[in-house]
Amino acid sequence: ARNDQSRDKMPEWKKISTKNAEFGKRTNMSMKEQRESLPVFKFRSQLLEAVSQNTFLIVVGDTGSGKTTQFCQYLAEDGYANERMIGITQPRRVAAMSVAKRVAEEVGCMLGQEVGYTIRFEDKTSPNTNIKFMTDGILQREILVDPMLSRYSVIVLDEAHERTVATDVLFALLKKTVQKRPDLKVIVTSATMSAEKMSDYFNKCPIFSIPGRTHPVAVFYSREPEEDYVEAALLTVMQLHIQEPPGDCLVFLTGKEEIDTACEILDQRMKALGPEVPEMIILPIYSALPQEVASRIFEPTPPGSRKVILATNIAETSLTIDGITMVVDPGFSKQSSFDPKLGMDRLQVMPISRAEANQRSGRAGRTAPGRAYRLYTEAAFNSEMLETPIPEIQRKNVTNTILTLKAMGINDLINFDFMDPPPASAMLTALEELFHLSALDDEGLLTRLGRRMADFPMEPSLSKSLLKSVEMKCSDEVLTIVAMISGTREVFMRPKEQQQKADQKKAKFHDPSGDHITYLNVYNGWKKSNFNVQWCKENFLQARNLGHVKDVRQQIKQLMDRHKLQLTSCGNDTIRVRQAFCSGFFRNSARKDPSEGYKTLVEGTPVSLHPSSALFGKPAEHVIYGSIVESTKEYMHVVSLIEPKWLVEAAPAYFKVAPTDRLSKRKKAERIQPLHNKFAGEDDWRLSSQKRAGR
Ligand code: ADP
Ligand code: MG
Repeated sequence: ARNDQSRDKMPEWKKISTKNAEFGKRTNMSMKEQRESLPVFKFRSQLLEAVSQNTFLIVVGDTGSGKTTQFCQYLAEDGYANERMIGITQPRRVAAMSVAKRVAEEVGCMLGQEVGYTIRFEDKTSPNTNIKFMTDGILQREILVDPMLSRYSVIVLDEAHERTVATDVLFALLKKTVQKRPDLKVIVTSATMSAEKMSDYFNKCPIFSIPGRTHPVAVFYSREPEEDYVEAALLTVMQLHIQEPPGDCLVFLTGKEEIDTACEILDQRMKALGPEVPEMIILPIYSALPQEVASRIFEPTPPGSRKVILATNIAETSLTIDGITMVVDPGFSKQSSFDPKLGMDRLQVMPISRAEANQRSGRAGRTAPGRAYRLYTEAAFNSEMLETPIPEIQRKNVTNTILTLKAMGINDLINFDFMDPPPASAMLTALEELFHLSALDDEGLLTRLGRRMADFPMEPSLSKSLLKSVEMKCSDEVLTIVAMISGTREVFMRPKEQQQKADQKKAKFHDPSGDHITYLNVYNGWKKSNFNVQWCKENFLQARNLGHVKDVRQQIKQLMDRHKLQLTSCGNDTIRVRQAFCSGFFRNSARKDPSEGYKTLVEGTPVSLHPSSALFGKPAEHVIYGSIVESTKEYMHVVSLIEPKWLVEAAPAYFKVAPTDRLSKRKKAERIQPLHNKFAGEDDWRLSSQKRAGR
């Protein structure tokens, strides 16, 4: 029946599809014409005037008006890049890369020359670079080393409405920097929400508003709440594809796995419909996607076909894709927030805010009037969604942030000029954690170890493990594992058709002690093969991502060299490697539970071993884990077997041997209990932490 229906629609489709030529025209414009057609162009001289007259400037404008790609070029053309650089931050890695690539094309240079980008572990800049895109995290690191930001004439904090922790911290730090560098210009760009608040914060600076050139977008709501938003989204897409005139479709989903699966299902359903249905070009976009694949979303849609882009939040404001006339919005995104039960941040699928929903809908009206399909009820929109999102700094663990601030000599955190301060309890948790990691002393002052930890671009538990491994003479091994973990790209391949074979190959690397050493085995195996690509293929490993790990390893090694930290190998004595990781991850410890999986030692939260772990199905009483990933259960990731007494050695102020006199010595060694339980003695805990906060 479906086929018939689509056949009925065919003539209509074909007729309308000739109109597509209109869309084609835009892309045939010369680069110059295209640049000059953007809304921001008319305001070029006014913008430059405003910059010259103000230290701070807020620029608001609809997505696609040219803020990111044009503004930096205007500044460069006006001489701001002559002696120092123009630095533009982006909350997302993909946006930094993709926008830099675009601006390089417009400027007419090779990426990495006059226009470049820096993201963690990847630096595509050169001495010639004068327009530099970077993640906000990178600028946060740079300002730690050079609080005057002497290499920059202008800093643009782009996409500031996203309110990432790093952007929020930069807000405050830049306010301090300009006091000593009155010539520095700070421009904050934002989608319209919250501009007033930002202006107030930046000494009531002017708001420069760029009127958008958007088309009306009709918004449709679901009549009933949807039970399965992915399925609802896919059904909507198929229906739109068959019924609606040309125009591309943007679907907001929450993450990589979800998007990959959805792409596959769509592809199958399209195949099932046969060749008569117009072609659907299905494209994923999320941050882990390699650049070449990611940039396909910008290619013009061939006439007679329809692009369907399945995106994470990244397409909400940071990337502009022309030609979208339909938006499908299930109303969710993956948000990271602090989970007190696990004592760490956790990514969770949560409802978006009304402001974000409106941003999403707006994507449909860039080039023509559009439609937005909201897969939630109007009542839910009005009564269940928040007005604006909660800034990340009020949701997330701030341990790393506080370490950075302390490393900059900022000790009075209570009076630090945050736009929205983190909750006091979160700051205390962070101080407590830094104390147990020995990054702070009991006065709350930074230790030498803490200062060093701040210099390493990774979470404190990793940098602590790495630094400890130098002492424990296993730094060669720990460095490799840290690089594997920080590389953030999946090294194992598990193609759908060959899962079993892939698992068998992976099992060959499994170490009885768990995943840390398994990672080491993989890297060393690759090294032994002389970094051979064919070897990777045979072993179901992603050569390119291993290459990235090698690069990351090299970069961290350089940092270690700078600190005169020695690389020493422990050979086969890898017990020390796991002990070193205990020194950073003691809080992430769990014990086998007779009834179900594992329970964390600190809070007793139930957690499970992931089936992909080297320890799965093996007896392992006590373990540490690198992170928790939530899918059907709360799964521990990167898990290794430990001896409980290592925890007491790693964090003597955190764990103690349980005082049970009647037990044998061996049994006693296993009865480790946390000294600090946040939920039991909250008041005491606060008291002692306040002392440490230096108040
Ligand atoms: P804003 O920052 O105001 O949201 P941008 O400067 O990112 O706007 O985008 C302006 C225009 O530049 C977009 O409408 C689009 O036409 C074009 N553009 C931006 N990035 C790319 C890209 N990677 N490929 C092709 N065109 C792009
Ligand atoms: Mg932008």
